[in-house]
Formats: sequence, C-alpha cells, structure tokens
Amino acid sequence: MKPQLKTDAQPDHDVIIIGAGVSGIYQLYRLLEMGVNVTVLEAGGGPGGTWYWNRYPGARFDSESYTYGYSFSKELLEEWNWSEHFSGQPETLRYLNHVIEKFDLRDHMQFDAQVKSAAFDEGACSWTLTLANGRTLSTRFLLTAIGMLSAPTMPTIPGVENFKGEAFHTYYWPQEPMDFTGKKVGVIGTGATAVQLIGEIADKVGELTVFQRRPNWCAPLHNGPIDRAEMDEIRANYDEIFARCKVTPGGFIHGPDRRKFSDVDEDERLAFWEELYNSRGFGVWLGNFRDVLVEEIPNEEFTKYIADKIRARVNDAETAEKLIPKDHGFGTRRVPMETHYFEAYNQDNVHLIDINETPIECITRDGIKTTDREYEFDIIIYATGFDAITGAFDRIEFTGVDGQKLADKWVDGPITYLGLQTSGFPNLITIAGPQGGSVATNFPRGIEEAVEWNTELLKYLRKHNYNRIEPKVDAEDEWTEHVKHTYSYSLLGNSKSWFTGYNSNVEGHDKIRYMIYNGGAVRYRQRLADVVEQGYQGFDLR
Ligand code: NAP
Repeated sequence: MKPQLKTDAQPDHDVIIIGAGVSGIYQLYRLLEMGVNVTVLEAGGGPGGTWYWNRYPGARFDSESYTYGYSFSKELLEEWNWSEHFSGQPETLRYLNHVIEKFDLRDHMQFDAQVKSAAFDEGACSWTLTLANGRTLSTRFLLTAIGMLSAPTMPTIPGVENFKGEAFHTYYWPQEPMDFTGKKVGVIGTGATAVQLIGEIADKVGELTVFQRRPNWCAPLHNGPIDRAEMDEIRANYDEIFARCKVTPGGFIHGPDRRKFSDVDEDERLAFWEELYNSRGFGVWLGNFRDVLVEEIPNEEFTKYIADKIRARVNDAETAEKLIPKDHGFGTRRVPMETHYFEAYNQDNVHLIDINETPIECITRDGIKTTDREYEFDIIIYATGFDAITGAFDRIEFTGVDGQKLADKWVDGPITYLGLQTSGFPNLITIAGPQGGSVATNFPRGIEEAVEWNTELLKYLRKHNYNRIEPKVDAEDEWTEHVKHTYSYSLLGNSKSWFTGYNSNVEGHDKIRYMIYNGGAVRYRQRLADVVEQGYQGFDLR
C-alpha cells in the first residue's frame, strides 16, 4: 500500500546534514546556495571531521595537497597557498576553517551535537533525530556526511582499562601538544596511521616499541615544501590538474601506465620502477604498469622489487624480514606512504615486536605483557584502525519504514543503490556512503561529485513537487551485485583490510563485505549521469 503524505506536517528543516567534514561543508555550501532551510549537526567541538580528530604527529595527506582541495571556487583556488606537497593536519584544518569563514557557513553548523538516533515517520514523510543531550529535530531529507574512517576501534585485548599512564587511540589524539622527551612509548598497529606516526616520533621519544601483527607494504611519500613560485605554477595549472584527476580511475593525478609489465624488457622495467619509487606520492601504487594490481605475476615481480627496497633500507636483516609482508602482494591493501619509516628501525631506541611470535596477553598497570615479557610504558598509543565505512552508521540508530533498523539490514554488509541511498529508508542520502564511488578515490574529488549529484537531485525533487524518494529494491539489488562483481577487477578484492570490510576487533567483521565500488571514478560518474538521463531510473519518487 502506498503511504499517504500528510501535506500539513512540516518538519523543522528541509535538510539536516550529519557531519561537518569535507563532505558536510561542501554539501552545506550547495544547499545554502539553493536557498533551503538546512543545518549541520557535528559531534565534534569544531568542523573538519577527519582533520579535526586525527591530530597525531605526522598526520598528513597522501593525496597531493592541490588535488585534495575543493575545486568548486576559482576564488578559493586563487587565494589559498599550500605550503607542502602533502599538507599536514594543522594546515588542512586551517584550510577547512578558511572555507567555512569565506562562505559564511559557520552559523549553519551546530557543534557537540552528536546524533544518537534517526527515525523515519512515514505519515509526516520526515526524519526525527535525537541528539545525545536529548534534543530532537526533524527534517524532510537527511544527508549523512559521517565519514568512512570515523568509528575508531580499540583492540579487544584484556586489561586496556588498567594502564595507569596515558593511553589513547590515534583518532582521539589530545588537542594539546605532547612532549615525548625521554618517554617510553608503545604503539600497537602498523597501518597507514602508525606508519606516519612512527616516522615522525621515533627521534623525539626516549624508547619506542612497536607491536606489529601484520606488516604493510609502504612506499616513500617524498613530501617537500612548496615555495611561492611553485604555488603560482600550480595555480596556473589547476584546470589541467583537475582535468587529469577526472580521467584517472582513482581521481588522483596518478593513473595506470598504458603499458603492461611484459611490454618492456627488464632494464626498462627496473628504470621505470626506480623512477616511480623516487617520485612523489601514489605513482608507485597507481601509476605502475596497468597489470601490476590486476595480474598475479606482475604483482609478484613488483612485490619482490619493493621487498628489496626494504632490505636495503633496514640495517638489521631479521628486522627487515619482519617488516616485509608475506601474506599479500604490494598494493593489494591501500599503501601507507611513509617518511623515514623504515629508517626509524635503524635507531637504537626503536624496537619491533612481532606479536605473531610473542602474542600480547594483556595490558597491565605498567604497560603491555606479551608471552615473552612485560614492557613498561609512559604512553600507549592504539593505532588500531577503524570500523570502516559502515561503522559510523552503526553508531547511529537509523529506523526506517516499518521499524526496520539499518544495522540489521546491513548486518552482512551494506546494500545500497549507487552508494547513495538504501531502500526502506526514504529521504536518507548517504554522501560518500558505502558502495559509492568516493571511497576508493582521492576522497574530495569523489565527494564533490556526490555532493553535486545530490544537489541536482534535490533541485529536481523540488521542481517536481516530490517529497519522498526511495530506491527500488531491484535497482538496489542490481547495484549491490555489481559492486560485488567489481571486487574481481583487481587484486585488491582478495586482501583482508578495511577495503574488504575486515576488522578483527568488531564481532562479525571477520568475513568479506562489499563496501566499495571498485569500478573507478570514470565509470561511476557515467553511471550517475545515465541514471539522471533516464529520469532518475531506479528510484521511486512521490
Ligand atoms: P588500519 O590500516 O586498519 O591499521 C590498523 C593497524 O592496527 C593494523 O596494523 C592492524 O593489524 C593493527 N591492529 C588492529 N587490531 C589489532 C589488535 N587487536 N592487535 C594488534 N594489532 C591490531 O588503520 P589506519 O592505520 O588507521 O589506516 C586506515 C586508513 O586510514 C588507511 O588505509 C588510509 O586510507 C587512511 N589513512 C590515510 C592517511 C593519509 O596518509 N592520508 C593516514 C592515515 C590513515 P592487521 O593489519 O593485522 O589487522
């Protein structure tokens, strides 16, 4: 039975956006431009999302700064100067605040406003949100801009609460500067976050002990300052830079080389790999021969090349072997970009503990106890990652039509149409959500496209007097099957990481979940355009 809309029931807002990070900021800008009644609810004490929270030393872009910034305003591009090729967290947070001031967005944002639940009222065709402080708000359309890596997870190790020193997850890094001088520091985890952190603090602490479960393939970032002349040159080339990002699968300036691994002889191949290894950014991962991330043999060969680089950089042969992954090939998990990471292990004050050999038994009052011994620390840092992509959704209780919970619908993995909406939850739009095109890309490039698509959709609904939108179940099933199929496009689909939905610290997340559209930004953009051309094909509009 089709529900009847009560036309006299008016919610407080046309649109509520949850989250004031990169997506929420731009979506707000576009909606204000449209003249809708909109507010942003942000759990943090200020805007910035990822860049508000992750204040750990070494936190910085792995996208070139000038490909990460917003592209929508020529004036903004003209006036902002990036100081480094890969900007650090403080500069990025300053940039986002600058955008907010420039476009007068702050008055439309509410901070310390953590959304606990959101329930769809079919009769009123609106969402009612309840905040942690008990306040309620209602809205016709609810847009989530809650991030992909915003639900940090602690390890399930007994005794975490017993430690008497300072301890925190990298996501919740203290806002005040920390003095590490002479301190004994333990780090659990060796993902992208830990790799940045370890490279940065190794020579600032007394002793640093790293507890590693699985090593990652890392590659040098080759960051460097941008002086005025270079910034002017970048500015003059912004059109070309963004045009380049539009044609690569990942939305980066790096795209696959047209050649296959076997198209060149060994000398030429090694010379090319040397060039990639010594160049800035993700070229080594995304600008490689086009079959290196797709075919086993080219991947194995490049993996051997990178393993030798690690052996050459780490003095102690046993430590080098521990740092070389044995369970996956190079680039089949997102590659942590590093600065002095491997060299850190050449310092006498840095120790690597392989917890496969000596597992952690518990956290004690004084430190960490493995099967071998107890390590005493002043500070324990949990660089243990996130309940990625769906975790932020699970932390809000979304209730849709007929009382259905989103967490129940997605218990075995997300089910969406285009990564933007899900059936049974009308008027809920997931900007950069699971199974969308942004997650596997240079995030802001994908985000801008998602925001622009959503904005056009809301204009269309307004123009045609529609109050309610929901994807059709068959369209959603087809998309979810297609997303699953995209996992066979490259070797990334076989890896155990947050890309494939694994997290050993969350119950039930020990199996593959199809979280990301892996078909590339170009195909995703085309699909979105086709849907519009067919009159928002796959959606039920009322
Ligand atoms: P992550 O890649 O998931 O790494 C988490 C680390 O913690 C892994 O080494 C993991 O080991 C370890 N771990 C988790 N639970 C553990 C346990 N119970 N005991 C021992 N070790 C445990 O998380 P992340 O490093 O925060 O990075 C996540 C993503 O954030 C990155 O892939 C990237 O997309 C993004 N990021 C980007 C940048 C940037 O440069 N812009 C920087 C940081 C992060 P296993 O591998 O064995 O699970």
